[in-house]
Amino acid sequence: MSDLLRNLNPQQLEAVTLPPCHALILAGAGSGKTRVLITRIAWLISTGQASPRDVLAVTFTNKAAKEMLARLSARLPINTRGMWVGTFHGLCNRLLRAHARDAGLPEAFQILDASDQLAAVKRLLKRLNVDDEKHPPREVAQFINAHKEAGERPDAVEAWDDFTRQRAGFWQEYENQCQREGVVDFAELLLRSYELLSRNEPLRAHYQERFRHILVDEFQDTNVLQYRWLKLMAGGGAALFCVGDDDQSIYAFRGAQVGNMRDFEREFRVGKVIRLEQNYRSHGNILDAANAIIKNNAARLGKNLWTDAGAGEPLRVFEAQTDLEEARWIVDEIRSAARAGQEASRVALLYRSNAQSRVLEHALFSAGLPYRVYGGLRFFERQEIKHALAYLRLLANADDDTAFQRVVNFPARGIGARSIEALQEAARAGGVSLAAAASALSGKTAIAVGAFTGLLARLAAACAGLPLPEVVEQVVEHSGLRAHYRTEREGADRLANLDELVNAAANFVSENEDGSLVAFLGYASLEAGEHQAGEGEGAIQLMTAHSAKGLEFDVVFVSGLEEGLFPHENALDEDKGLEEERRLMYVAVTRARRRLYLSFAQTRMLHGHTRYSVKSRFLDEIPQQLLRWMSPRGAGRARLPAPARFAPAPRLFNPKPGSEDGGQGTEGRNNPEPETRKAKLAGLSGFRVGQSVLHARFGPGVIVGAEGGGSDARVQVSFEGAGLKWLVLAMANLRAA
Ligand code: ATP
Ligand code: MG
Repeated sequence: MSDLLRNLNPQQLEAVTLPPCHALILAGAGSGKTRVLITRIAWLISTGQASPRDVLAVTFTNKAAKEMLARLSARLPINTRGMWVGTFHGLCNRLLRAHARDAGLPEAFQILDASDQLAAVKRLLKRLNVDDEKHPPREVAQFINAHKEAGERPDAVEAWDDFTRQRAGFWQEYENQCQREGVVDFAELLLRSYELLSRNEPLRAHYQERFRHILVDEFQDTNVLQYRWLKLMAGGGAALFCVGDDDQSIYAFRGAQVGNMRDFEREFRVGKVIRLEQNYRSHGNILDAANAIIKNNAARLGKNLWTDAGAGEPLRVFEAQTDLEEARWIVDEIRSAARAGQEASRVALLYRSNAQSRVLEHALFSAGLPYRVYGGLRFFERQEIKHALAYLRLLANADDDTAFQRVVNFPARGIGARSIEALQEAARAGGVSLAAAASALSGKTAIAVGAFTGLLARLAAACAGLPLPEVVEQVVEHSGLRAHYRTEREGADRLANLDELVNAAANFVSENEDGSLVAFLGYASLEAGEHQAGEGEGAIQLMTAHSAKGLEFDVVFVSGLEEGLFPHENALDEDKGLEEERRLMYVAVTRARRRLYLSFAQTRMLHGHTRYSVKSRFLDEIPQQLLRWMSPRGAGRARLPAPARFAPAPRLFNPKPGSEDGGQGTEGRNNPEPETRKAKLAGLSGFRVGQSVLHARFGPGVIVGAEGGGSDARVQVSFEGAGLKWLVLAMANLRAA
């Protein structure tokens, strides 16, 4: 048997080697679905049944797509370039970029992320003088997205009442605005490419003929439109190979439909449904707990997982009085695992809502444990980066009003609200973009606004023909952003981030074939958010249960298991919501390979309020014999130190083996033990205060300070040539000298 197929069980083998046909692999967590999907692609290609060009694969994250390509090219002597692998958004972006004109978009169309979209809706409603109490922008944006994700356009909205009619009207206006500005939101990427393919017969025929094999991971979370998109792509006789788990469907709130699985079976007359029930990820107790939890859901396609890995340890449960105590307990357990040799990056802290991470971060940070938050405030969402990107977007597409509006008077250049209103008025009257309207202005407004458009024109001239990193550098410098933040009291970080944007552009160019500005901007809107995951080797991973889907860790903590938090309070009233929460819990539990910790707190500070809660019903659903209730380690120890602006002397994550609680009582920021100097900084391994480093742009220097943690971890470096600078570790192009 070929190497590829050697380590598969009989069901997996059958799935991998199915003849080209529509197939559904319906299988529980950790049963090897993703592995089967990748192996199938490799098998199809290595047996000559398909060439890379024939393959289209949909993954759940961009990161998963990259990993898939890396694994394939490691296994096979092939060029994966012709293969289309990515998320729905990523693939649609690629399609629209290739056929922008046919899709009715400018070549350099820009993507609005969620916050850009909200800003665009706000601007629209203001222009239309809409009462935003009656029509909050957020609701209007949700209305738009939900309808788009159902594949609708404004004229198709069934509006029986004035209220809905009004919203459909705003939506139409919003579409006009986006079209004028040459921008598309996330949902539009999908809808637009769907429409492109359904209307343009030759194009459809081309892709239908090209992609003979379409493979979809996490199929249970596709929404109506995504499913229709797949049907269209597969309409020319491609084999559609979908893997999924109905028990892990956790995006119903975004329109995901488990029903797609049944529709798929029916509509495609799927001959082959293969079930994989052996779990290779988790020990028996963890799996038994997962099975016991999910059994309480009524709506299931039904399957049960088993493992031959042995029962393993019981699940460790902790009841804390407060969220702080819970965090402290978690830190203590992590330390003890570290002493036993557990690698930090294989440890995950999961929680239901992002707001829970703060307390955990603080505890980890205070303890000097390296950690990384996945999906926190992303680098590309920071204010100063958004500003710089807005200038860049205007260089690519002058009609991008969202970008125009963002920076027309930032940094302040004396363009008052009145001038901006006059400009908007002129744009509305002429039905043109702000930039276009600006050139036709006269009088005082023209002079004020001219300062800005003149700057843009000079920037465009200066940047013509320059490579991307230099374009970014020109923009950061000549937009006045750098000078602006130099005068701000807390501007050091922002300046460092702007520098890092230049570096990010340089990295982008070195890693991508298409190093154009437009490609970089697409990357900044679509992919950059995942940048943090898995990075920072040697760091504990913090993320919501939602973002943990598809991943696995040796040790998993699920914290905040309280009624109202997990299950979330919004879901308590209806069975459907509760079942979705339970699936999310199932996802969380099944991430663990060897050890699972479950914890809850009697009181918790969240969004500025103290909440009093009882333990989650999900805990009660786990058979007691699988659980071991824990008491705090080193009870009676001092509380956590107060938040420190500067990092405490960073401690080694994996100290020398010692007594079980060795050193715990004595550690502190002044502790001059030798390990301290070898220590790693929070959030990134391999760095410490006092270390000599080399920066790609600033040259040699010494780390003199540190603060923040996770994706926010920053170091202060004294550079020989460039002076003192703060750098964001996640983005810094820094290495040991
Ligand atoms: P999820 O539902 O969480 O996405 P999955 O079904 O996609 O899980 P994988 O991630 O593909 O599962 O596999 C889970 C783990 O089991 C991986 O570490 C994988 O390498 C391993 N595994 C899968 N099949 C086998 C096998 N036949 N032999 C040994 N290990 C396996
Ligand atoms: Mg998977």
